Parts: sequence; C-alpha cells; structure tokens
Amino acid sequence: MKKIGMLGGMSWESTSTYYKLLNEEIKSRLGGLHSAKIILSSVDFEEIEKFQHSALWDETAKILSDEAKAVESANADFLIICTNTMHKVAPQIEENINIPILHIADATGEALVKDGIKKVALLGTKFTMTEAFYKDRIQEKFGIEVIIPNEEEQNIIHDVIYKELCLGKCNKKSRDEYIKIIKRLEKDYEAEGVILGCTEISMLIKQGYVEIPIYDTTKLHVLSAVDFALK
Ligand code: GLU
Repeated sequence: MKKIGMLGGMSWESTSTYYKLLNEEIKSRLGGLHSAKIILSSVDFEEIEKFQHSALWDETAKILSDEAKAVESANADFLIICTNTMHKVAPQIEENINIPILHIADATGEALVKDGIKKVALLGTKFTMTEAFYKDRIQEKFGIEVIIPNEEEQNIIHDVIYKELCLGKCNKKSRDEYIKIIKRLEKDYEAEGVILGCTEISMLIKQGYVEIPIYDTTKLHVLSAVDFALK
C-alpha cells in the first residue's frame, strides 16, 4: 500500500471527512484491521483564507509548497490537496516536489465521463466557479460543458462555504437555497449532473435532496487516492 500525502485544514471540517472516508475505503477493500497509510499536513485556514480574499495567491502557494515538501520528506508516495479551490496553485506546488499530485478535477472528470455526462453544473467557491483552473480542465481535458450559477447565486454559495460550512455549521435555509440553485440550473440549462466542487458541500447536500446525480468531489478524490494507493 502506498503512503497517501495530504494537504489539509482547508477547512479541517472537510479534512476530517477525507480522513474518515480514506480509512473506510481501505478497510472495505482490504478487510480486517487495515487502515490507510497517511502523512497529513494541516494548515491554519485563517491564514490561507486571508491571502485568498486579498488575491495573494503566491503567498498561499509558498505555504502549501513548503508543506508539500514536508509531506514528501516524510515519505509520502503521492499527494492530494484536500480542497478544490487551492488547486489554483497546484502547478506551483507541483514544481516544488517530486511526487505526483492527484488532481481533484481529474478524479471528478473521470467519474463524469464514466457516467456519460455531457453537461454539468458546478458549485464551489467563486474562485472555483469563475476561474479557468478548474472549469477549463473539466471542459478541455474531458470534453464536458460546465454550467455555472449567476452572480447572485455565486455570492450565496460562496458565503455559505466560508461563513457556515467551513465553521461546521449546516443551516436548513442554506440547504434550501443550494437546492433551489441546482434545480434552476437543471431546468434552465438541462444540466445532467452537479459537481459539488467544494469539499465541504457534501455536509449540506446529499443525493436525495436533488434528483440529478451529484458528483461529490471529496468522495471522488478519496476513491481515486485509494485506487492509486493500492495499484
Ligand atoms: N474546501 C473548499 C474547496 O474545496 C473551500 C475552502 C478553500 O478555499 O480551500 O474549495
């Protein structure tokens, strides 16, 4: 079994989900007392979030590259960055290490292709929804059209992530708003699925709340990490 390197803490709420799902998946595949081999570096999200919202992405890349190097030095065989948004600086992190990064958008794109999805809605932070690093990767590498919410909806989704989900709060009102947005994208654009493109959204939205298939990036990233660890 390979040793999984994780960059976490963004937020720790979703990192704890990653930790649990990784161990559950290893246990279900290998049985007995098997559990995942993990090297985790968990950062202080307050520092990262301040740099994000001041557009100081090079500062975030510096912190995460240093942590990635530490994870590599601790003998991790590969790395997962446990947040969609921070894949914005994945290329910079990649330059600083010699172990591979399993990209969260690739794990997601592969699942979409497998299900024959041609048009998908994307929910996430504003950075993830509006910038090229994520959307273009899904569109160009996997040939899937990506629909994003309008600006008003983007603001709602973004604020719920930072002001509620990353603080461990799940509010019914926010869930209802997310459901309304997903249904509108399904109706107006005929989206065939929805990417929960932020690793905390699965705390709020589960399959059953909406009819179209959900693509939970946390879960998909975990499955691809376990596949790779056991290959
Ligand atoms: N975990 C989130 C994501 O998947 C948001 C927190 C962050 O900005 O890293 O994008």
